[in-house]
Amino acid sequence: MDVIKPNQVDELVRNNVVLSTVEAAFNWCRSRSLWPLTFGLACCAIEMMAAADTRYDLARFGSEVFRPSPRQCDLMIIAGTITKKMQPVVLRLYEQMAEPKYVLAMGSCAISGGPFVDSYNVVLGGDTFLPVDVYVPGCPPRPEALIYGIMQLREKVANPKKIARLKANG
Ligand code: SF4
Repeated sequence: MDVIKPNQVDELVRNNVVLSTVEAAFNWCRSRSLWPLTFGLACCAIEMMAAADTRYDLARFGSEVFRPSPRQCDLMIIAGTITKKMQPVVLRLYEQMAEPKYVLAMGSCAISGGPFVDSYNVVLGGDTFLPVDVYVPGCPPRPEALIYGIMQLREKVANPKKIARLKANG
């Protein structure tokens, strides 16, 4: 294959030739088909379900395929209150997801414990044990807010250098 000289790039672009890398192409495709894990922890999950219905139509953005198995999805939406009893289950589900995987904390409970911040049995946010990528505030956030959060995550997935993730297990 001929080497492309810098002065030829403009002409190639004018002729609809797109220059990229395989990695960038994969990241772009991945960002447009984030598949969430099917599970909800409390009331925020109702709004998450509404986001996938016909009124809000999450399918427009490639994320309507909620999978029942953690091995088939790459997005965990923490939708609801994380009780101390459920925390090990949520962590187990996360660990069963294949890399690359992403976490979205939906609602004030998933972000910081929400109205149960003084409760003896509530974990004070998903980022205390998971690497949360995007936070969607609200109690509960509306479906539009969740979709906006997924849009933010899409940009991060398409540009992985922007991702500053905490690693729960190093
Ligand atoms: Fe329910 Fe509000 Fe907590 Fe969401 S943030 S799970 S709506 S109490």
